[in-house]
Amino acid sequence: DRIGAVDGGDSGVHAFLHVNTEEALAVAADVDARRAACEQLHELAGVPIAVKDLIVTRGQPTTAGSKILEGWMSPYDATVVKKLRAARMPILGKTNLDEFAMGSSTEHSAYGPTRNPWDLDRIPGGSGGGSAAAVAAFEAPLALGTDTGGSIRQPGAVTGTVGVKPTYGAVSRYGAIAMASSLDQIGPVSRTVLDSALLQEVIGGHDPQDSTSLTDASTGLAAAARLGNVKGMKIGVIKELHGEGYQGGVENRFNESLELLRGAGAEIVEVSCPNFGYALGAYYLIMPSEASSNLAKFDGVRFGMRTLPTEGPLTIERVMGATRAAGFGDEVKRRIILGTYALSAGYYDAYYGSAQKVRTLIQRDFAAAFEQVDVLISPTAPTTAFKLGEKLSDPLAMYLNDVATIPANLAGVPGLTLPGGLADEDGLPVGIQLLAPAREDARLYRVGAVLE
Ligand code: GLN
Repeated sequence: DRIGAVDGGDSGVHAFLHVNTEEALAVAADVDARRAACEQLHELAGVPIAVKDLIVTRGQPTTAGSKILEGWMSPYDATVVKKLRAARMPILGKTNLDEFAMGSSTEHSAYGPTRNPWDLDRIPGGSGGGSAAAVAAFEAPLALGTDTGGSIRQPGAVTGTVGVKPTYGAVSRYGAIAMASSLDQIGPVSRTVLDSALLQEVIGGHDPQDSTSLTDASTGLAAAARLGNVKGMKIGVIKELHGEGYQGGVENRFNESLELLRGAGAEIVEVSCPNFGYALGAYYLIMPSEASSNLAKFDGVRFGMRTLPTEGPLTIERVMGATRAAGFGDEVKRRIILGTYALSAGYYDAYYGSAQKVRTLIQRDFAAAFEQVDVLISPTAPTTAFKLGEKLSDPLAMYLNDVATIPANLAGVPGLTLPGGLADEDGLPVGIQLLAPAREDARLYRVGAVLE
């Protein structure tokens, strides 16, 4: 009913691309019957969840926000979806996103933008704006997102929700349509820190279908959230990730969070990560490079739509060309072109190779920082939600939103965003980001629970 009331129409939130009412209600009814029969069920059994439409689901369409996959149905469930079903969580439907998760505003969706429930003229962040908006608008208590360069955390920040990018490998990527495989990670979106902890425990763990998946990064999370204690912990403020370029109201809420942690017994120190200034540049070479390769499979033969050239010979190259020209949006094309350029012979060392070296430097910055502190803290995004259309024609301005979230993806470390209050200037939500060493996801929940 709530989805029906707020999601549709010209000025609705438009968090969902597909709603799965019948199946969700059937799962809920089954959970009620089992509870009535005193069956022991998972703590989250019967709690409905929305799934980002980059994650494949049997029996429901998966579009990745692209025309090229319109009408396509996956023959299998992603591992995380299998786990949701095993926990008997009703899947409410599939949420909107920037096409193939490329963007920071959800305006690059081929199916129209999602609106921020706090102000319908503003963006809900991206690429997972649909999942964040669904949770913020009380359309779903939980959602799944994917985070390659902030797509769970930045939408979380601008919609006042909690979002977590687990350690790379903590959650299986099997069935998440790959954007940049060395950066992609599935994670929870929720209203409280404990809810995200419970959800990561459901979806996490080793999966033989994903050779990069870990066994031990998604355990003890709910216990850590319930403990919520920072006494004696050292928390590092990343010098390079606040101050100049960050909105005043974001800085104010950030400083208050530091006070709160101090009051709860943490020691706050400043740490420098001198190479973080190069993270954005490295990311916007590595990500398009991997994406250009991953997206080669959308060729008009194997998946989804096929467009025939209107004139000339009907060769396979020309069918692929016509399909990709019609099926991909501008941002996806821009990144495929950037990525193929960065990977091409003669340029590889100068662009892709250099970016990989920068990536190593970022990893070293994190390693050095975590020798001094237990957890790092920064604002999640430099500003609150901007207006729809404001940055659409300026890709570089759009990319700058990701300045604080990207380092974690490049290093594979976990990151959590939680609401830090409302900015003085505009009354919109501000996100606070916590970062921990790889496999120490529990630390984020422990500290996060103190801050919320
Ligand atoms: N804003 C990032 C980008 O456009 C988000 C990527 C992501 O996390 N999916 O690349």
